[in-house]
Amino acid sequence: QAKVAGKNCHRFYSRAMDQAVERRVHMEQDLRGAWERGELSLVYQPVFGLSDGKLAGAEALLRWQHPEHGPIAPSVFIDVAEQSGLIETLGPAVLRAACVDAMRWSQEHPGADGLFVSVNVSPRQLRNGDLSEQVAQALAETGLDPSRLHVELTETAVIGDEIRASTLLGRLRSTGVKVWLDDFGTGFSGLSHLRRVPVDGVKIDRSFVADVLRDPDDLALTTAIIAMAHSLGITVVAEGVEKEGQYDILRERGCDLAQGYWLGHPMTTQDFMRLLD
Ligand code: C2E
Ligand code: MG
Ligand code: MG
Ligand code: MG
Repeated sequence: QAKVAGKNCHRFYSRAMDQAVERRVHMEQDLRGAWERGELSLVYQPVFGLSDGKLAGAEALLRWQHPEHGPIAPSVFIDVAEQSGLIETLGPAVLRAACVDAMRWSQEHPGADGLFVSVNVSPRQLRNGDLSEQVAQALAETGLDPSRLHVELTETAVIGDEIRASTLLGRLRSTGVKVWLDDFGTGFSGLSHLRRVPVDGVKIDRSFVADVLRDPDDLALTTAIIAMAHSLGITVVAEGVEKEGQYDILRERGCDLAQGYWLGHPMTTQDFMRLLD
């Protein structure tokens, strides 16, 4: 009896696995050409300075409106793009589009020429080694001032071969853009990593921000990240600020910048420009 159940169970799991693989293959096929068909677009989440409460810039976040399945989360399709290699054409397109939008902001709002745009870049884009050329090309084609472009990399992208990562990041920074470590605190690298990898900023992961009011450990860790980063001359951004209390405590602890639903949701570039009015 157990054997039969085990067998059925096995068959069930492999079928479930086949379906998962099939879904992935379909998604990969659908994602191919999605940018050209206009199914992918960028939305912008405002980022504010904590000391003055002023708008400092925005993070570009990719959205996919699938013609049949509707909106698909980037946490799902970015992974597919990364695994399949599609990110190698999508990545540069995203970089360029974000630069174009940031140029528009300042063309239509002269006061906006100090605003940055922050673009997420996947580990594969860095590892392939030509990210700095892609960035330089996007800047040259659009005319965006390099200091206005920030590149966000997750900790996992720079873990492992630190020497190579440092070389690539150095090359990237020599284009004049700023490099931020995203989802900081969730990886295993820890604070000591910051000494060896040249970055301009860290983004404290929202899982820490979520608990700064409730969990003394998360508050202690967040405070330590801020102090350590500042001692190294690194900017600190808090992500996922959903409550006024979180905003207040982060400001009190000296955090430099913040973003989150309490401050503003991701929005179209048109809506972002309305915000500038
Ligand atoms: P991320 O770079 O850490 O982006 C922050 C995510 O948190 C975004 O999710 C944003 O919508 C969400 N968020 C912002 N404020 C809040 C808040 O107050 N509460 C909560 N619960 N969430 C908040 P999103 O847009 O779904 O993106 C997920 C991830 O997908 C991003 O995480 C980033 O790693 C990746 N991603 C998005 N766009 C791109 C892209 O163009 N290229 C690459 N390589 N990755 C991207
Ligand atoms: Mg990010
Ligand atoms: Mg993040
Ligand atoms: Mg995240």
